[in-house]
Order: sequence, then C-alpha cells, then structure tokens
Amino acid sequence: MMAGAERPLIEVTDAARWFDVSAPWLERVLSRKPRTLLRAVDGVSFTIRRGETLALVGESGCGKSTIARLLVGLYPLTRGAIIFDGEPLSRMQEPGGLAMRKRLQMIFQDPYASLNPRWRVGRIIAEPMLAHTDMTAAERIERVNELLVQVGLHASDQSRYPHQFSGGQRQRISIARALAVNPEFLVCDEPTSALDVSVQAQVLNIMKDLQRRLGLTYLFISHNLAVVHHVADRVGVMYLGRIVEIADRNDLFENPRHPYTRMLLSAIPDITGSGKSRTPVAGEVPNPLSPPPGCTFHPRCPFAREQCKREAPPTIALGNAQIACHGVAQGWPMQG
Ligand code: SF4
Repeated sequence: MMAGAERPLIEVTDAARWFDVSAPWLERVLSRKPRTLLRAVDGVSFTIRRGETLALVGESGCGKSTIARLLVGLYPLTRGAIIFDGEPLSRMQEPGGLAMRKRLQMIFQDPYASLNPRWRVGRIIAEPMLAHTDMTAAERIERVNELLVQVGLHASDQSRYPHQFSGGQRQRISIARALAVNPEFLVCDEPTSALDVSVQAQVLNIMKDLQRRLGLTYLFISHNLAVVHHVADRVGVMYLGRIVEIADRNDLFENPRHPYTRMLLSAIPDITGSGKSRTPVAGEVPNPLSPPPGCTFHPRCPFAREQCKREAPPTIALGNAQIACHGVAQGWPMQG
C-alpha cells in the first residue's frame, strides 16, 4: 500500500456497473425471465490525485455519467472497488457513513432542475449543513453569505428564488451548495453544458479558482473537448463502458494514440494550434446492449485487423499514459 501522503484520493479498480433492462412483458410471454444486461461501465480502473482534475470524455452513452454516480455512491458497484482516501466507498452506506458522504459532493448538469424552485437560495445552500453539521441558524446564514460571495454572487441573493437568476448564476448557486459542507472531492457532471457559451468560461474559471484556493479534487465529466482542455490535468477517453486511453492533458491533446481519441480530437476546432482541419466523427456508437466482440471500437476503426474482431485489447502503459489498443501495443502502422 502506498504511503498516506502519496496515496491518490480516489482509486477505482476494475469497476463495473450493469443494469438489468429486461422487458417485464417478455417474462410473461415466455414464462421465464430473459436477462438483458446493459453493461454501462465494465472494467474501469483509474486514480485521481489530490488537487487534480481528471476529466472523462466520450460520446453520449459511453458510461461517463454512470461513473460519476458510482463515485458519489448513487449507484452500487456490480463488480470492482472504489477506494476514497484509503477506505472503501461502500462504507458510506454503513452506520457512521455520513462523515464520508460529506467529503464528496456532486454538481449536476442542469442548474434549472437541480435547485428546488420553491425554496429561497439561502435555504437551498444551507440544506447540506442541516444534514451534515450541528451549526446554529446564525452560523448557517453567515456561511451561506460567505459561499455566495465565493462564487461571485451577493450575500443579499440568499433571499431570492432560483427563477430570479440566469443559468450561469444558478450553476454558481449549485456550486455554493456543493461547497457548503467543505467537501474535498467534487464530481462535476457536464456542469456547463446547459449554459450559453458566453457564460461557460465564467463558471469554469470560478471552479478553477475555487480548486486552487480550497485544494479541491475534481472528476469532470464532459463531451466537450474544448472545455476539457481548459480544465483538466489528465483526461480519460471512454468508449462503450471502458476507458480506452488515459493520459496527461497536453500529452493526450498533442499526441493522441488510440484511434478513437484521434477521431474525437480531429472532430473539434483546433485547440492546440496545430493547424489541423476538422473531420466529423465517423460512424455510430453500436447498440450497448449487444456490443461488438473483441475491441468494441473495431467496426469504426480504420486500422482494425482480424485480431481486433476476436480479442479485447489489454490496457498497456506508455509513460504516464494507458491505452487499450492492439495496434498501439504491437506497433502497427496507424497513419492517416
Ligand atoms: Fe482499432 Fe484494433 Fe486498436 Fe481497436 S484494437 S482501436 S480495432 S486497432
């Protein structure tokens, strides 16, 4: 086991989360239960160091939001382990688990749906303090004032209702609520994707500033690679429930190795100044209920060979990066 000072805050090992999506009417017709499993996350491993931002990217349905929910205990694991600061995350569900729960908070995608419209902002932000602390009413009001100022709003805003704020301001309120009980780890699930482009950068900059000042650790879920380039220290690329490549941010953007990472990067406007032109992402994500055998990316991969159709590629380490691709592991020519 690693020494305490070096141990990552989050250690995820072979995590899987499957959902039984069998149709109940089929059970009645066939007089038996045919099981249909959606393997939303299947064999994912990664760590997150204290104070860093790990971003997970991938197309819709790749499993990144399921990982977000696993990491705050909203879903139980089907297989594998998640360790938070040296302790199994599952302890959160046990008696006394409230102390761990308070250390992890989540910021949701939609600031319109995640704030109770009938509550004033002060009550919304103070709610976690009621559940997790024994602060007095006066202390809670003072803390709400402080949090509102920290996220760039005014202390007087606590007497207003969510509908009186813009989308960007509502997401700041969500951030203030997530910070109310001094968490160490924030899971941010597409926190700016519901916002206008013009306010996305403001919210992202506030998050970065808070991270610096409070020493926060982030898991940042996004489908937007430009946003990820702005916020992440390391990036994991997901495809059909697995991480196919994980690397330091600059390494991944400047030297993508997995064919899927390359495809995603070639589809966005040039971020790194390489002057490369934009190419749309080719093909469709296969049905996750019946994923292709072998490497699940093989139907879309321009470099696929017979081996790819039969065998799932193991994950190999290349420097600080980890990649799951037969071609990368065996040095196949993969230009173009
Ligand atoms: Fe392409 Fe084969 Fe690598 Fe999969 S394992 S990404 S199909 S080259």
